[in-house]
Amino acid sequence: MEKITPNRIDEIISEEIPDIEIDKDLHDIDSKNMIQGPCGSLNNNSLCMPDGKCTNRYPRDLLAETITGND
Ligand SMILES: [Zn+2]
Repeated sequence: MEKITPNRIDEIISEEIPDIEIDKDLHDIDSKNMIQGPCGSLNNNSLCMPDGKCTNRYPRDLLAETITGND
């Protein structure tokens, strides 16, 4: 299988919160499920931190380009 490259990922995937005036349901779903945080020292009670460490590995450094991992 051909491995997808970071520039192809940027062509296929983007994310922005839908306009609440145009699609309130999708706006609410996105706002509830697609926004991470705050967690870490800002919110130790976040659901992503059962053992005091973010299971989603946030916070992360900002990157100029998309990268892919081995998984
Ligand atoms: Zn987290």
